Amino acid sequence: MSKIAFLGLGNMGLGMATNLVQHGHIVTGFDPSPAASEKAAARGILATESVIDAARNAEVIITMLPSGKHVIDVYTELVTAAEKPALFLDCSTIDVADARKAANLATGAGHHAVDAPVSGGTGAADGGTLTFMVGGASEAIDQAAPFLDVMGARIVRCGQSGSGQAAKICNNMILGISMIAVSEAFALGAELGLTDQALFDVSSTASGQCWSLTTNCPVPGPVPTSPANRDYSGGFASALMLKDLRLAQAAAASNGVDTALGKRAMELYEQFVAQDGPGRDFSAIVTAIRARTLTTETTTA
Ligand code: NAD
Repeated sequence: MSKIAFLGLGNMGLGMATNLVQHGHIVTGFDPSPAASEKAAARGILATESVIDAARNAEVIITMLPSGKHVIDVYTELVTAAEKPALFLDCSTIDVADARKAANLATGAGHHAVDAPVSGGTGAADGGTLTFMVGGASEAIDQAAPFLDVMGARIVRCGQSGSGQAAKICNNMILGISMIAVSEAFALGAELGLTDQALFDVSSTASGQCWSLTTNCPVPGPVPTSPANRDYSGGFASALMLKDLRLAQAAAASNGVDTALGKRAMELYEQFVAQDGPGRDFSAIVTAIRARTLTTETTTA
């Protein structure tokens, strides 16, 4: 049994922290949202009034926060206050450069640090079936593994600090681009007289096969469990896809890599989120592509 501080008890953090409690760990938590703290208290998480209170005597400090700035602010506050050596385990999705900066803050103060962003949404967080993409020194990852095992089903060791975030944003750049590709194919297919089912039956077993088609199919019908069958509710929100595409573009720009399709996917999701709002599953972009409400010109860099 370990003493764990869990900071950020929102949609994802609440389920993850609950799983740690259910496996016998003592979890103190902090979230500035009173509603989040209340829900956490009802799940056996000891809700505190500040990050410092939550982290007092903690062996492991887990963050599940909205952005790199949140993570760096919390680390800056905690690296001197936390008992040394603590394990700082950041599961948020943040910029690779911010992840490296956060890890340096922690290790520079004598702690251990691991970045472990997740794949899987709130269902996987609640069910303890997340995939973790993990970066950090191998001894630090060894230390984090028993906690990641409780919160997830799969751990992929990606390399040194920041590598987990790098893997996450590269994967989600593929995902954003592939969802647009699949959506464009359904839009064109329909104009050419193909039914959605006929295109699905061909492409799902041919070279167009991908997760965006076979699992998260953007049109209702061919895959009954995909969000398209419930008006795009309960999936991976378009705003989160846009966030990850922006992180990928920030990393591409700062490393001098030309990712033309990643850039275009980000622009299309920017337009789509402005039109449709942040909340529906990102596959709902097919509705805008079919309705031709997204502009087709590519902006120049
Ligand atoms: P969320 O907004 O529901 O939760 C974040 C929580 O952090 C909020 O409750 C907020 O009040 C809290 N917070 C803000 N500042 C804080 C501070 N200083 N100390 C403690 N708590 C603080 O977001 P979420 O959906 O739970 O996502 C969390 C992270 O996980 C994000 O980085 C997101 O990109 C990533 N992610 C989310 C999903 C998903 O499906 N929701 C999937 C994969 C990854």
